[in-house]
Amino acid sequence: MRALRLVADRQLELVDLDAPPPPGPGEVQVRVRAVALNHIDVWGFRGMAFAKRKLPLVAGAEAAGEVAAVGEGVAKLAVGQGVAMYGALTCNICPACRAGRDNLCENVGGILGFHLDGFARELMNIPARLCLPVPDGVGMVEAACAPITFSTVEHMLFDNAKLERGEIVLVHAGGSGIGTAAITLSKAIGATVFTTVGDAEKAAKAKALGADHVINYREERFESIARRLTGKRGVDVVFEHTGADTFNGSLLALRRGGRLVTCGATSGATIQLNLMQLFQQQYRILGSFGASMRNIGDGLQKMALGLKPIIDTEVPLEDFAQGLERLESRRVFGKIVVRL
Ligand SMILES: [Zn+2]
Repeated sequence: MRALRLVADRQLELVDLDAPPPPGPGEVQVRVRAVALNHIDVWGFRGMAFAKRKLPLVAGAEAAGEVAAVGEGVAKLAVGQGVAMYGALTCNICPACRAGRDNLCENVGGILGFHLDGFARELMNIPARLCLPVPDGVGMVEAACAPITFSTVEHMLFDNAKLERGEIVLVHAGGSGIGTAAITLSKAIGATVFTTVGDAEKAAKAKALGADHVINYREERFESIARRLTGKRGVDVVFEHTGADTFNGSLLALRRGGRLVTCGATSGATIQLNLMQLFQQQYRILGSFGASMRNIGDGLQKMALGLKPIIDTEVPLEDFAQGLERLESRRVFGKIVVRL
């Protein structure tokens, strides 16, 4: 079977691997159909000195496929069922796992596609408990955007920032995979969305996606616009993932007592923070990483109701590296998905 392996930093290789053995007890064998690309793939691709992992490593951190075989003791999934797969090997027994807070697992065995072999292969065995059924009306490419993209946004906006109907959220990088999902999911609950983009073409697309106000961050200071649009009050929530370039501006864009939720630092990981401003303005800064199984299920249900992820490009497995380069260059609007 075909698989795509990272063999060295920035070096992916399409290889022919032996198909996996029949699934063991509690496992299913999945025929992977679509792998969505994320910044975690870009980090993996560039190489991270501190990451504990061994190369070669099968790439791909977010995926959907179809059940091809069912192991002993698996009752909830049948052959042919579409599934979206959780991308971290959680333990299922620690207090966090038992409480359904999967992304706080105390004994996590690693992230697939980053620490452990990932999803960019035709067949794989995976614990059935990490598979969520794909509802009717949701295609494989869309479902592949549930385990990280939609679920991360669900977790950030609703579990962490507790965004509510009628509130104003500023979404950074509205053309990115999670930016487009954040616009869609915020609008769906009746929030007002401001978003930042880097060019006029993306501005038009973000507007078409439902953003109420689009700011070209190359032409205008987003924090000034956000304050002006709210009569100097500031926004309720900032959806951060850009990091160093925007973080302090994001705080300035917040109202007193506002919430900043962040899951990324693509422009840089270190900032200076004014603690006086932090406590006087009573900001709440929330770190968010990954999501729970429940968030993935919620994302899939929303997709079934018509809230579809925006797909920038679909590429075949052999073009995985070009997809990553496109993602890294930020020339995207929505998700890049690899088809198998
Ligand atoms: Zn656990």
